[in-house]
Amino acid sequence: MIETLQFTNESIPWFFPSLAAVFGAITGSFLNVCIYRIPEERSIIFPGSRCACGQAIPFYHNLPIFSWLILRGRAACCGAHFSVRYPAVELLTALLYLWLWLIYPPVVAGIGMLFVAFLICSTFIDLDHMIIPDRFSIGGMVLGVFLSLAFPALHAVEGLSILAHLQSGLRAVIGALVGAGLVYWIAVLGEIVFRKPAMGEGDVKFVGFIGAFCGWQGAVFAMFGGALIGSIILLPYLLLVRIFAGPGPTAAEHAETDEAPDQFGAQVPFGPMLALAGLVYFLGFHRFVDAYFAEVASIFGL
Ligand SMILES: [Zn+2]
Repeated sequence: MIETLQFTNESIPWFFPSLAAVFGAITGSFLNVCIYRIPEERSIIFPGSRCACGQAIPFYHNLPIFSWLILRGRAACCGAHFSVRYPAVELLTALLYLWLWLIYPPVVAGIGMLFVAFLICSTFIDLDHMIIPDRFSIGGMVLGVFLSLAFPALHAVEGLSILAHLQSGLRAVIGALVGAGLVYWIAVLGEIVFRKPAMGEGDVKFVGFIGAFCGWQGAVFAMFGGALIGSIILLPYLLLVRIFAGPGPTAAEHAETDEAPDQFGAQVPFGPMLALAGLVYFLGFHRFVDAYFAEVASIFGL
């Protein structure tokens, strides 16, 4: 069996990478359903995909990416418009799964695919609803610790002894605690300094989840890298909102939520920034981050 797989891999080098990308596109299609239905507390299995008009969507109109392109973003039944976000999430998942397959051994790539799926769901649900459901943050944290115990390779722990499994599990627990603790205290201090909640409870749990998969270095990077990415993306956006402020769609959105708009006039979820930084870390940037922390530790003689 393994020889057959190795033979396939050597004779057709594009076979498994293509499989990873196709698997990513199909997973992305499922993630769209999760993003849409989980905040509404609806089942993600039944019923199958339906159009807004109530018609069931047949499988041949439900192929990831391609159906949207072929139907040019419109429903076959009634011509209703489908958001470009559906194929975008499918394409994004396909590319990330391909990348994971190319940079990691199969086991770590597989765990990475779960991690990425959780990140994508949390990101888009947070963008839509300003919440990260506990099943992704707390559920993901528990899953991360469990997978770390089972597969020490996730935390680059060598060997197959019981000790290696425990060491890997311990790294996940420390990562979760450091991540959640750090964001908790920054949130507390931020609230004292700025007199308004800077980050929510959801962000605390979410960085705990990232730490369980990435270790404490990844959790710390998610927090500060996320803040940096957020500033780079958000500052121009907030400036534009401020310049073009007026009774636009932003004002209407705020009318729906009870939360007061902040001083820039825009309420911004922090989850997507944390997720993006966690993703950057897991997709290869961890080398630089880990080397940096090791250097800092050696300066202090640790
Ligand atoms: Zn329809």
